Amino acid sequence: MGQGSDLTVLARDVRACRLCEKDLPLGPRPVIQVHENARVLIAGQAPGRRVHETGKPFNDPSGVRLRRWLGVDEETFYDPTRIALLPMGFCFPGTSKGGDLPPRKECADAWRQPLLDCLKSVSVTILLGRHALAWHLPEAQGSVSEVVGAWRDHAPRVFVAPHPSPRNQRWLRNNPGFERDTVPAIQEAVARALIG
Ligand code: SF4
Repeated sequence: MGQGSDLTVLARDVRACRLCEKDLPLGPRPVIQVHENARVLIAGQAPGRRVHETGKPFNDPSGVRLRRWLGVDEETFYDPTRIALLPMGFCFPGTSKGGDLPPRKECADAWRQPLLDCLKSVSVTILLGRHALAWHLPEAQGSVSEVVGAWRDHAPRVFVAPHPSPRNQRWLRNNPGFERDTVPAIQEAVARALIG
């Protein structure tokens, strides 16, 4: 048997990563879901404490909302041959007074581009929040809200969304166009990608 595909080898290396171990309060536990055949990429922020403990991403109210935005059930969502889950930081970064800390920057510097280079079947990318937006669309002007509002600029290949956390309930109330206009467009693009 050979060494496996580039992605298999990379994913193995990621899961053994200790690069920023000294800065991780609970230690490294990279949580990613990748496969060469994935058609949809979800670029999240970083695992929270619960994901660190369970190893299962978006297994919480944020995940319920995200799956509704995508129009997919749990079986589809957790199928790596269909959906890739690649947060900006792969390990739980810890918390501060305002909530979880930002994803560790070393993570994207070390791993993101090589992993994306292996995900050649991805045709729709959903960017959740400002960290994913800043890395994937550095040319985008304005705040996350402004870029989300201008969703047609990048659709149907890339959509920018707020993080689906319950913490963003107020943002969703103040920006009703997202669930009214953008979410149906996301659902249509995801459905097409998964069929295609
Ligand atoms: S956050 Fe990323 S760079 Fe840091 S230990 Fe985890 S996988 Fe490695």
